[in-house]
Amino acid sequence: MHGDTAQVWRGHLSTQAAGPRERRAALATVIVSTLVFLTALPFARTPLAQVPAFVPIYVASLVIFDLITAVLLFGQFNALRSLGLLILAGGYLFTAAITVAYALIFPGFFSPTGLLGSGPQTSSAMYMAWHAGFPLLVIAYARIKAARPGRHANGHWLRGRARLPILVTIAAVLAVVTAVTAFATLGHGLLPEFLHGHRTTPTGHAVLTGIWLLSLLALATLWRRRPHSVLDLWLLVVMCVWLFDLALAALLNTGRYDLGWYVGRLYGLLAAGFLLILLISENSRHYARLVRMSAELSEANAELWQLSVHDGLTGLANRRAFDRHLAEQVAISLRHQRPLALALADVDHFKAYNDHHGHPAGDAALTRIAGALLGCCQRPADMAARYGGEEFALVLPDTARDGARHIAEGARAAVGRLRIPHGHAPAGAHVSISVGVVVMDGRSPCSVEQSIAAADALLYQAKHAGRDRVACEPLSPAPAR
Ligand code: GH3
Ligand code: MG
Ligand code: MG
Repeated sequence: MHGDTAQVWRGHLSTQAAGPRERRAALATVIVSTLVFLTALPFARTPLAQVPAFVPIYVASLVIFDLITAVLLFGQFNALRSLGLLILAGGYLFTAAITVAYALIFPGFFSPTGLLGSGPQTSSAMYMAWHAGFPLLVIAYARIKAARPGRHANGHWLRGRARLPILVTIAAVLAVVTAVTAFATLGHGLLPEFLHGHRTTPTGHAVLTGIWLLSLLALATLWRRRPHSVLDLWLLVVMCVWLFDLALAALLNTGRYDLGWYVGRLYGLLAAGFLLILLISENSRHYARLVRMSAELSEANAELWQLSVHDGLTGLANRRAFDRHLAEQVAISLRHQRPLALALADVDHFKAYNDHHGHPAGDAALTRIAGALLGCCQRPADMAARYGGEEFALVLPDTARDGARHIAEGARAAVGRLRIPHGHAPAGAHVSISVGVVVMDGRSPCSVEQSIAAADALLYQAKHAGRDRVACEPLSPAPAR
């Protein structure tokens, strides 16, 4: 992963270490779950009414929760390429898929005895496979996370496209769920008796105890693999609630439709919801950050653009902007056969000014001169630019010789009106400029370089003629120096 991408994802929930606030929230959730569990415990075996709508509602919610969680986790894998996230996504997809299969074969759900040729033990076997599969995948997640601490995206085969590993995971999960369902339905004759009527048999209890211990092992494995990321922390909470769910709905109750069974299933829904809420809130946090970042980015871009085209001292267009504008205007002038004038102005005896007044005073004078020159640009396409140290340029589109001379003279006069005392210039008492103006008629071919060379030559003429003056000529094939 590139450094800047790593920066963006550093605050990600599967990489960011859980802070005290998250720890407190997770602990509070576990405490509340424990209290609910302890309150329900004495009544776990109390039989309640069989609510036929309960299982469909429970199963549908669970499937939706788990499916969305799996999709979000696959999305996280796509961004981070962490094998742990892929396995966890697979775990949630597994619970979603096996819950669908469980619904199909659950007696009374789609048909009185369950679909797919299920027998009396099929739904129990499916429940067991479901509840054993998820902790197994959590153990795999925890172990892989520990084996590859902080590894994201730089894992060899995960670096490429995410689609293939995701498709392989989905295919593997669906194959396992299909195999389990096929075994539990077609091979229901081979299944031992887990449930007698609605009551769990000793065999059922033994298997469920094993599954409960497996879930405990998943919790312990996850607990031991530190540091815990925010995701790990909430997965720990999920496993705690999962243990309560199993204990109430499968171990400490008598069987289906007693209080423990109902409360346990509600716990199951809760467990499925935790990670979903976490992932969704993470997504909206990232979205908010994206909106903020994109606003900051456009602001920074605008600022950068300003910096890239303006001169830092005078605020005029800089040399880069001047070059681009002049090239554009030369092209436009030639295409439309319209005149174009280019003036180059140079401050007279500025070296002496600097020497006597100091560089900061020189800078201040340049800034004032720039302001005066800018004031001479009246039309939208006119440009005043800082060409170099104490040299300025005026690009004057659609301006013929008289107009160009008029503007150049105006610029010279404007600088004179600033009355910046010089005191060490033979040309006069105040700071002045000399200006060379070349006027192109838009009909004779001319290049940017030619126009600059011609203006420069005219500037030289103005200097030579005594400074504080304008030399303005049309562009000729070989400008006189
Ligand atoms: P003339 O153009 O009239 O022939 O004389 P000059 O003294 O201006 O000659 P020249 O162009 O060689 O000198 C340019 C001087 O402008 C040199 C440097 O001290 C000054 N200068 C150039 N850029 C800056 C600037 O950004 N700030 C300040 N303070 N001075 C600058
Ligand atoms: Mg100069
Ligand atoms: Mg000069």
